[in-house]
Amino acid sequence: MDNILSGIKPTGKLTLGNYIGAIKNFARIQNEGDTFVFIADLHALTLPIEPEDLRNNSRDIAAYYLAAGLDPKSTTIFLQSDVPAHSELAVIMQNFLYMGELSRMTQFKDKAQKMDNEAIGLGLFAYPVLMACDIVLYNSKRIPVGEDQVQHVELCRDLVKRFNNRYGDTLVMPRAEMVKVGKRIMSLSDPTKKMSKSDPKGDIFLSDDLNVMRKKIMSAVTDLGHEIKYDVENKPGISNLMTIYSALTGKEFAEIEKEFEGKGYGDFKRAVADAVINEMEPFKKRYEEIISSGLVDEVLEEGAKKASVIANETLARVQKAVGLYHK
Ligand code: ATP
Ligand code: MG
Repeated sequence: MDNILSGIKPTGKLTLGNYIGAIKNFARIQNEGDTFVFIADLHALTLPIEPEDLRNNSRDIAAYYLAAGLDPKSTTIFLQSDVPAHSELAVIMQNFLYMGELSRMTQFKDKAQKMDNEAIGLGLFAYPVLMACDIVLYNSKRIPVGEDQVQHVELCRDLVKRFNNRYGDTLVMPRAEMVKVGKRIMSLSDPTKKMSKSDPKGDIFLSDDLNVMRKKIMSAVTDLGHEIKYDVENKPGISNLMTIYSALTGKEFAEIEKEFEGKGYGDFKRAVADAVINEMEPFKKRYEEIISSGLVDEVLEEGAKKASVIANETLARVQKAVGLYHK
């Protein structure tokens, strides 16, 4: 069984995109291997964030993981910063990823473009180095991510190849995998843009009240015409809502088109809102229970211990391989 690893960075309030593209899927596949799911709090420092927000966001993600059904018995759930091996390995691995390739990363270009050139932190640039370390520390082969993170996993593959060529078989080769439907949920106000927690426009937040979620869906931007048809090019708004509907109900696009034949956008949006609420109502209730139970701290403490064992083994293997003095 292959090791599975993924994480979410606590940069803001989680969105329906994070839920469909990531969290829901983690719970579905957690028993297919040794699964490690973490909160990438060090990564969240790559953009300006208030300490209080970082803390709250981190705790929230852990609670949402548990609410989605991640079981601490089969999945190691932990905070990245609780396992120092991530940072230690990054100091070594930064020498094996190159400035040219890092500067071509879409996430860096997107985020840097919105900032003042003089004030772009080195961490934002070096983000994929740390992410590659997150992956290789756990000998992970399967990396379930949304589409936006695939490029970083590809870069990690380059790193593994480069490192193993130089030092012999040390690191395990990972590969990105995406959900069949919902790997890129788009903004409800601009369906040509990804729904993002650090650039929240047209987002549905997991923390939104159910009636707010409904309102947002009912006022989602749609397209010319009135047909319910999956056509990303010409009908990006409807196609995005169809993706959400399909991901939550399991219905295929053709089936959905048939279901809404002769009906209008209003009917369809109501059905999408119902599907979202159906899923979110029990999920949000579980989240509330978990937050007030104190379970999060317990799970994270236990998770850090378990994660450290395998992470430290990998770190030691790398230190030895590169010639850092080792008995
Ligand atoms: P940020 O704006 O801080 O980058 P984000 O919403 O993109 O926030 P990440 O922490 O980068 O969230 O990603 C967490 C996981 O959620 C990743 O696997 C990512 O690919 C996935 N993901 C993020 N946004 C979406 C989306 N709109 N649709 C599907 N999956 C998504
Ligand atoms: Mg992102």
